Amino acid sequence: MSHVSAVGEEEMQEHFDNFFEDVFVELEDKYGEIEEMNVCDNLGDHLVGNVYVKFRREEDAEKAVADLNNRWFAGRPVYAELSPVTDFREACCRQYEMGECTRSGFCNFMHLKPISRELRRELYGRRRKRMSRSRSRSKSRDRGRRSRSRERRRRSRSRERKDRRSRSREKDKDRKDREERAGRF
Ligand SMILES: [Zn+2]
Repeated sequence: MSHVSAVGEEEMQEHFDNFFEDVFVELEDKYGEIEEMNVCDNLGDHLVGNVYVKFRREEDAEKAVADLNNRWFAGRPVYAELSPVTDFREACCRQYEMGECTRSGFCNFMHLKPISRELRRELYGRRRKRMSRSRSRSKSRDRGRRSRSRERRRRSRSRERKDRRSRSREKDKDRKDREERAGRF
């Protein structure tokens, strides 16, 4: 029995990783370098399906917001806006991060669903190299710090309306739909 549930969990993580990678790669290819992307695991109305993308450049975030508002995902419209959130740490649930949140999906603090270590390395690994290279190139530390806080305010937030319950059940169909749709954009 424990074997069965372990496989189920692994499969769900893989499914989530696939979703995360698809969105990340598409947004980065179309709009520009992404510093960080987060997906909410919450079920409450104001957080369900929220995806937060922090682009390195402000103008890329603006482009993404304008464009994504015309985008559909899995048969539903995507709503995108620039996020006013400057500090995500404040909005995140500390108990969830320690695996201890008892409010589960209906917690009012953000539950940011983690991706696998392998995917993290794949998506952020080469970037870290790129970032440290550009950081060593910049002359003043102050300048770097200032532009960074400006970018923080310009995270784009897109809400991808999606029926989560059907996701795990219709894994293959879902993925195919997504691939077909991705081809159109
Ligand atoms: Zn929580």
